[in-house]
Amino acid sequence: MEPTTQAIEHVVRHPNYILEGTYLVASILFILGLKGLSHPDTARRGMFLAEAGMAAAIIGTFFHQDLRFFSWIIAGLILGSLVGLGFAVWVPMTAMPQRTALSHAFGAIAACLVGVAEFLMHGAELSLFTRSALGLEVMLGALTTTGSLIACGKLQGTIRGTPVQFKGQQYVNLLIFFAMLGCFIYSLNHPDATLIFYAMAVLGLLFGVMLVVPIGSADMPVVMSLLNSYAGLAAAATGFVLGNNILIIAGTLDGFSGFILSILMCKAMNRSINNVLFGGFGSAKAHATAGSGGTMHEISLDDAAVRLAYANKVVFVPGYGLATAQAQHAVRELASALEERGVTIKYGIHPVAGRMPGHMNVLLAEANVPYSELYEMEQINPEFPSTDVAVVVGANDVVNPDARDNPNSPIAGMPIIEVDRARCVIVLKRGQGRGFSGLENPLFFKDVTSMLYGDAKVTLAHLAQEIKNV
Ligand code: NAP
Repeated sequence: MEPTTQAIEHVVRHPNYILEGTYLVASILFILGLKGLSHPDTARRGMFLAEAGMAAAIIGTFFHQDLRFFSWIIAGLILGSLVGLGFAVWVPMTAMPQRTALSHAFGAIAACLVGVAEFLMHGAELSLFTRSALGLEVMLGALTTTGSLIACGKLQGTIRGTPVQFKGQQYVNLLIFFAMLGCFIYSLNHPDATLIFYAMAVLGLLFGVMLVVPIGSADMPVVMSLLNSYAGLAAAATGFVLGNNILIIAGTLDGFSGFILSILMCKAMNRSINNVLFGGFGSAKAHATAGSGGTMHEISLDDAAVRLAYANKVVFVPGYGLATAQAQHAVRELASALEERGVTIKYGIHPVAGRMPGHMNVLLAEANVPYSELYEMEQINPEFPSTDVAVVVGANDVVNPDARDNPNSPIAGMPIIEVDRARCVIVLKRGQGRGFSGLENPLFFKDVTSMLYGDAKVTLAHLAQEIKNV
């Protein structure tokens, strides 16, 4: 027999080679996917590579030598695909943060259940190391499940978004945490103590709830990113329990990238992880109003259109209001109308504008805004002195000059997009509503600023129409 035929036959007879091969390909695709996601230009390709990696991992798993009950696996695949499809079709872009939270909950409950099943089937036979990984998997999986469900409820508005706090809360949380840890240590040495193991899982579920309820809804993106990292670590622990390399690699990537993202978001808000987790930001206490004063100057639609039409350079600064108004297509339409008149258009994107990382990039990409027009905060800030009109579209905190000028402000030190350095600022918002921090924004009272009230989508559409008529 030819050596190549022999080799192929050998591989076919040993499906584990196929399994390990596809897992290797999947791991490489995950790493390349993650790298692609680090830049808007390559994000789409990164997503596609990650999807291909996931497909390779699923296909590879079918070659696992211990695999039984194919019908159950196929049923799970169909059910999971239907839920995923439902998410893709029915969940609007604005609800993406809560959808992501729900996905974390699904991933975490899967890790938790695999851990419980493994404990029930093989608990006594497992080594101490594997039992430790299994305990971690169940604890992290359980707390991530309920934590993510609470985060989802808060973002959706089905659970009160303001921090739920009571006296001695942190002591109660510590008690739950140490009780869970106690059960974990006990079950390490007593693999037959099923009740204690279940108690550990239940305490994990309870701890997830207690960890997230004291946090305000607007801090949920940071919390979710942390929970994402816990879900990843739970998956990596599952990998150690099952001896599954792809779970170890993908879980570790997920765990650490989630953690790094949380740190980056905190940095962009000039806050610490501790402040996010235990600071109760968004509670009545934190709503103390910073100094403002003066009057707001309103501008008519016609006047705003004239200012824009005769500008040389216009910078759009989108915020959460753009997402709620779904105004991404309208802003693009207005920008195109201005570009036709020879106006230079740029978009200034704050790293925490909106309610999730990359929120604005996703929305603007959906409206086919060219990446070359998107500028990060550090790039756009030096441009404002030469900008004729800065148009703030439903942004508030990320353009609040108090963060820069008032050391006593609760958001002092948060880097902002410095629209107030432009020659003229037009703010599009519906009324006197405040931003996520609940603070007054002195930008709205500045002489350079004009307020254009109304829903951002409607206002932008009217402006585009007016520009065409100027
Ligand atoms: P923001 O401070 O929440 O302000 C949004 C503004 O949009 C509001 O003042 C609101 O005023 C206006 N608005 C709402 N609906 C509108 C509509 N249909 N049309 C026009 N305007 C509308 O938003 P931001 O400036 O984007 O700041 C984001 C905040 O979230 C920051 O404080 C950030 O720290 C926080 N955060 C973000 C992340 C993240 O990952 N992105 C994570 C954690 C925390 P009216 O009600 O008057 O219209």
